[in-house]
Amino acid sequence: MGWNTLIIKTLKVNKKLIIGAILLLVAIASITIYYTFANSENTENDTKKENKKDFIKWVDFNVTAEAMNLTAKLDINSHTKNEEIKYNWIELLAYLACKNGGNFKNFKKSDLDTLVAKIKDGETIESLTQDLKFYDYYYESYSAVLSGFIGNYSIETENSKSQSADNGEPKETPENSLESDTKTPNNTSNFEQKYGVKAFLPIAKNYSFSHYDDFGNSRSYGFKRTHLGNDLMGSIGTPIVAVESGVIENLGWNQYGGWRIGIRSFDTKRYYYYAHLRKNHPYAEGLEAGMVVKAGDVIGYLGMTGYSTKENVNNINVPHLHFGMQLIFDESQVDSPNEIWIDVYQIIEFLKQNRSETFMSNKETKDYSRKYDFMDENFNEWYLYKNRFILFLLPWCRTRTARLVAYAVIIT
Ligand SMILES: [Zn+2]
Repeated sequence: MGWNTLIIKTLKVNKKLIIGAILLLVAIASITIYYTFANSENTENDTKKENKKDFIKWVDFNVTAEAMNLTAKLDINSHTKNEEIKYNWIELLAYLACKNGGNFKNFKKSDLDTLVAKIKDGETIESLTQDLKFYDYYYESYSAVLSGFIGNYSIETENSKSQSADNGEPKETPENSLESDTKTPNNTSNFEQKYGVKAFLPIAKNYSFSHYDDFGNSRSYGFKRTHLGNDLMGSIGTPIVAVESGVIENLGWNQYGGWRIGIRSFDTKRYYYYAHLRKNHPYAEGLEAGMVVKAGDVIGYLGMTGYSTKENVNNINVPHLHFGMQLIFDESQVDSPNEIWIDVYQIIEFLKQNRSETFMSNKETKDYSRKYDFMDENFNEWYLYKNRFILFLLPWCRTRTARLVAYAVIIT
């Protein structure tokens, strides 16, 4: 046996060894990866369990439109008039809640006046609230409800509209046309920067509606349950607009809500639910789950669909929009018995001051659009590329959790 044959034999043995070693390595790697993931999931579950103690489980929102209006005015004026002391309406409301035990039926304007006098005397909200046991709870709860309602935004001005008036929009007054002649045709210069209420009433401007506080009333379709929203009675086809900017999380048929749309705020704390939309043509042109909409955009049309397992059925007696708001402090509260729906009656009353004007933008499809474009302070960075990115990701994000993870990644 010469050296050559020996080497070949060794190689042959080694080949088997090498293949064996590779298989073993793959097996070890797979097991390691499996256990690493299993462990990381365990630690995730552990942290989740720990966090469960921390997040808010229940909110009874009963702040009156009067209290919201008074505190909003203080907040907005202190910012727009550039006053020395800047008020934060949510801080003011949380302080008042501590004083009235979280029941705004006991709200007195004099309590707010006293608070403002103290702040003007040099006391701070921090010093005034440090001994108030429930202040943090109220502040966090009310922030979850109201943090998307007041802030910086820009809105298209009447002058810029008169330059591009077409598509059946109402003709501008000659006064405005004259004024617009002196303006540059640059669109961005025709947005006015503002600080104020930037959430819209869900019923478009110039359309009438009626409502009463029907939260918690009993409903008999399906199982016995309570009404978790506010019904806004109006005419079929009334354009429905997004109250706040956000991501469309659900769009389609639901046994109870009929044609419905669910929109999550960018901070993920609020889920807006608009239901019973119009038979045959429920949604605004081109809307899909995963898309971003802006506050005041037309999202659909008032109708009477729902109360049926069969799609596109009008089983609601009186045409209305069911509007609801769910608070989410932890994702475990979604689609669970622990959902927190709040009474939005007073919020609707508060939002009556800010309505989005619409017009028929497509005569063929009879679709409506907002008249004045709007940019949210949170929206600019989203607008140009993120919407497309989400649509691009959507086919790979079939489950709600996968979509939420995708949004979370995009937001950060
Ligand atoms: Zn309802």
